[in-house]
Amino acid sequence: MSAARQMLFVFVCWLALAWPINSAPLGVKQWGPFTHRSTPGGIAILPTGVTTSQAKPQVRWFDKSVAVVSLGAEWHALVGIGLSVEPGINAIDVITHNRQYPVSFSVRPYEYQEQRITLSNDRKVNPPAMDMARINAEAQQLKRVKQLRSEDLIATNFIWPVKGRISSTFGLRRFFNDQPRNPHGGIDIAVPTGTPIVAPAHGTVVDTGDYFFNGKSIFIEHGLGIQTFYAHLNSITVAPGDVVQQGDPIGTVGATGRVTGAHLHWSVGLNGSWVDPMLVVTP
Ligand SMILES: [Zn+2]
Repeated sequence: MSAARQMLFVFVCWLALAWPINSAPLGVKQWGPFTHRSTPGGIAILPTGVTTSQAKPQVRWFDKSVAVVSLGAEWHALVGIGLSVEPGINAIDVITHNRQYPVSFSVRPYEYQEQRITLSNDRKVNPPAMDMARINAEAQQLKRVKQLRSEDLIATNFIWPVKGRISSTFGLRRFFNDQPRNPHGGIDIAVPTGTPIVAPAHGTVVDTGDYFFNGKSIFIEHGLGIQTFYAHLNSITVAPGDVVQQGDPIGTVGATGRVTGAHLHWSVGLNGSWVDPMLVVTP
């Protein structure tokens, strides 16, 4: 073998050994409809260290049950990261039949825009004492509903509940009449009053009501604590306990509650935290 051929042979052998056959696939980590974005208001898709040949582990974070799904050969946690979570190192608790251990992950900072809204009805910004009993009772009810979860995953993909222009994105740091209020926990889709709303995925209606801030609203649970929420409706055509299929009508868009005009407010929740709906549907 000539020196040149020998060098070529060595190079080909090196290439065969060095080529990263088992490197992770490029692109974004995804499970079903969920896209990984480990930021406040995002979703972290985290390996638990438990293979799917073993029993599914439980995962807990901030005292809440976290959805666990199979991805490749390993059980993964689908962690909803609340908007109020501080960026930095966090850890979920993985619980198997014989041990419990933390799996740490990093929450990256994410810059959400400011939004300033002027409302002529100041009662919806600074509610008088007479409204506070109702507001507090509704907050308790919503807190209770956000903890409801079935152990069966029902939803494997999401469609848009209505199609239209997004007038407010998720996570906006909000000021009503120049006063700071909770950040925007969903997206607003500006469509006229009466536009039909459909269930974006299979699920069970767990709550409907007429709330002080949210107006007429619906909560749907899609399994494993994956929830969607619809606010400011004109009409509601489902009731708690109803099972809905993807595409079923559930109500119509309106302008009830704290609004400046007709739109659908749509939220997506995971383990009791609102996450960016854009991480669940394709734009
Ligand atoms: Zn909204």
